[in-house]
Amino acid sequence: MTKTIISVDINKKAHEQTFPLHNRWHPDIPAVASVEPGETFRIECLDWTGGQVKNNDDATDIKIVDLKQVHYLSGPVAVRGTEPGDLLVVDIIDIGPLAGNEWGYTCIFAKENGGSFLTDHFPYAAKAIWDFDGVYATSRHMPGIRFSGIAHPGVMGVAPSRELLQRWNRREAELFQTDPNRVPPLAYLPDPQSAVVGKLKCADAERVMREASRTVPPRENGGNTDINSFTRGSRIYFPVHVKDALLSVGDLHFSEGDGEISFCGAIEMAGWIELKVDIIKQGAKKYNLAQPVYKSAEPKPKYSNYMVFEGFSVDEQDKQYYMDASMSFRRACLNAIDYLKQFGYTGEQACILLSAAPVEGNIKAIVDIPNACTSLAIPTDIFNFDIWPSDKGPIKLDVQRKLTVK
Ligand code: ZN
Repeated sequence: MTKTIISVDINKKAHEQTFPLHNRWHPDIPAVASVEPGETFRIECLDWTGGQVKNNDDATDIKIVDLKQVHYLSGPVAVRGTEPGDLLVVDIIDIGPLAGNEWGYTCIFAKENGGSFLTDHFPYAAKAIWDFDGVYATSRHMPGIRFSGIAHPGVMGVAPSRELLQRWNRREAELFQTDPNRVPPLAYLPDPQSAVVGKLKCADAERVMREASRTVPPRENGGNTDINSFTRGSRIYFPVHVKDALLSVGDLHFSEGDGEISFCGAIEMAGWIELKVDIIKQGAKKYNLAQPVYKSAEPKPKYSNYMVFEGFSVDEQDKQYYMDASMSFRRACLNAIDYLKQFGYTGEQACILLSAAPVEGNIKAIVDIPNACTSLAIPTDIFNFDIWPSDKGPIKLDVQRKLTVK
């Protein structure tokens, strides 16, 4: 049995855990465990909010969620003998929910508290709970649907160097200052409120809480990449920035669609992850790698039938944009949501489904002026009814469930 080097207790609050958690990036956050290169070990993680979201039918917890607390990460783990310039090689051996806690959630955040990719269309908080049965997910809030998840960590990364941290904070502040009152904000700047920095105490802790970067965007250290291919069997090569690498992980997902469009868009869970680490000495230098690369995993849920929706760079008011892939993907998502509504789902249910299920998003053509063409592919076998167009028209199902709170 693989040894657990960091455990969590889901009945305790995030700041009461035996192994102190952290929710910011900073080189001075001390390691809580250490391993040797070549070692395999297990790490347990709270869900990304630190247990703020409950298994019930009321989205009030989503409406009032404290997003300054996210993401709670387990670690850092010191990988002994690692130095800046090395590559840290991380194999993902396996991932799962904590025993006795086989459930997760997908949410839409309220526009004024987090928002989402489609926040103009879905401004209210909504929540769906999923139950896990082995690799499968079903939901009392999403009747007619069952699919197998691609479990992965939403966040995994190494500590930044002091210099890298300063670069992040500078460039994000410059963007933020171009429109400081925007909702949602253009960037999440360092914020000591609700910051948790592991076992640091007193003056050191206060300084680190002020300086440390938020974990919201992915950056050169990895971080919140939300790449659903980081599943069991994949391998990630992280450029190392500080002594002992200081690897952290959290925000475990049971499943996620490409794009994670509802922001809290994966199936979020508390769980465990088994990792094996190794070092390529001065590998980042030798290959001139400034950010992680990864090897995708072999095993993947196998779907052969997809219904594919297209998007172009034209907004809902028929305004033409120039080669705007985000706008194009937005329209592909909205087209799919509108189609699913014809069977009886609400827009929020459809949005949550596209966030959580193994849908595939792609850029198809980025040369055909003025429209970037993107696609959103939904595996049709996840539905227990026929979703394809026919002479009969869409069947009306009793699947509508109210997931929102205002
Ligand atoms: Zn997540």
